[in-house]
Amino acid sequence: MIAYQTSGEAHRPGRIEVVCGSMFSGKTEELIRRLRRAQFARQKVEIFKPAIDTRYSDEEVVSHDHNAIPSTPLDSSASILLLSSDIDVVGIDEAQFFDEGLVDVCNQLANRGVRVIVAGLDMDFRGAPFGPMPALCAIADDVTKVHAICVKCGSLAYLSHRLVQNEKRVLLGETQEYEPLCRECYQRAVAEEKKAKNEKTSQ
Ligand code: ZN
Repeated sequence: MIAYQTSGEAHRPGRIEVVCGSMFSGKTEELIRRLRRAQFARQKVEIFKPAIDTRYSDEEVVSHDHNAIPSTPLDSSASILLLSSDIDVVGIDEAQFFDEGLVDVCNQLANRGVRVIVAGLDMDFRGAPFGPMPALCAIADDVTKVHAICVKCGSLAYLSHRLVQNEKRVLLGETQEYEPLCRECYQRAVAEEKKAKNEKTSQ
């Protein structure tokens, strides 16, 4: 007998869960896993993603293993509040591409009693905290950091190293554009790129 379950319906307090990590770390798979479990529990689930991420499909959250859940692409985090009335669990994918207003939106939802599950890249390709992710990690009730495997040495990867020369912060891509690396292999890759660049300019 559990003392705090007094009625037939279990009490579900609002909360914010963040699943963060580099590319290929399984963030979206973990988001989908949690959302599916909520669906099995007959909770109303809604999923949002930034309209910018159209790599695979406009209307679905699709992970790298093609495990899809229908989702709504949005231009602004403010729209999440309007579309989340009457919802038990809100999933947000690729949260790093949303505006900073997402932090307040998640807080408001959780305060209303909604379970909010946010997945996103914690760092950009240079290792800098990405968009609203650091603030979301700070206000979250629970943070899970997932890891890819370093393609050079097999250790746990720490960030997604960009393989193509492009200084833009947002460059949507897959295995042709990015590789997961551990801290040590990343330092080495950056040093080698620098050396190659210097040799090129001195020729
Ligand atoms: Zn490594």
